[in-house]
Amino acid sequence: MSRKPFIAGNWKLNNTIAEAEELIQGLLPRVGAVEDVDVVVAPSFLSLSAVVDSARGSAVQVYAQNMHEKDSGAFTGEVSAPMLAEIDVQGVILGHSERRQYFGETDRALQLKVPRALEAGLIPILCVGETEEEREQGDTERRLRHQVQEGLEKVPVDQLSTVVVAYEPIWAIGTGLTATPEQAQETCGFVRALVQGFDKEAGNAVRVLYGGSLKPDNAAEILGQPDIDGALVGGASLDAESFGAIVKAA
Ligand code: PGA
Repeated sequence: MSRKPFIAGNWKLNNTIAEAEELIQGLLPRVGAVEDVDVVVAPSFLSLSAVVDSARGSAVQVYAQNMHEKDSGAFTGEVSAPMLAEIDVQGVILGHSERRQYFGETDRALQLKVPRALEAGLIPILCVGETEEEREQGDTERRLRHQVQEGLEKVPVDQLSTVVVAYEPIWAIGTGLTATPEQAQETCGFVRALVQGFDKEAGNAVRVLYGGSLKPDNAAEILGQPDIDGALVGGASLDAESFGAIVKAA
């Protein structure tokens, strides 16, 4: 089963519009013509339009970092799937551990967000991952099973393989600690098996990403694992050269 590699840069709460423009202009000569890897950047909501316009005509895809499950209504401060689709955003990161940890994102909301994104024509990256404590207590699989099953439960079977699943051990995000290639492979393989539990073929086709302190110098080894199809990159995605090197490693 050949799966197209997928490298996404999560810019998080970084970059003004002017800085985002500068970063995408630095990225385009490096990755703008890459055809054999899906290359994604996810700027803040406010920079989305500018980055979409700059990336138009290139191979770089622009995703949002979150969305609300409802299309409209009294939900102050939120942005919906149709609003993102209207400005040609192509996908959305959902359930990032920082959203779960600091903003009360729940598996229940994700159960609605993932299919809603798909209906609006957006590709969802569903993020899952365990805390350090959960790993130490041997709770990793239980936690991941819950997150994957809730997040994908309402996705029609024929769209399951459109979803991208990012496994990000929380203890490895922004900490400089990386899962070993063996740990990352084992857990990404487990995530794939969970999707296979919904539908065997979809599980074979779904892209599973690793995330957590991925850098140019550890990318090749992690991305070389059989069940790892790409990466969700935080810190290293803010530097055009580093992100370009990670895309090359894929
Ligand atoms: P990091 O972040 O690469 O800075 O660890 C990854 C992520 O949160 O997606």
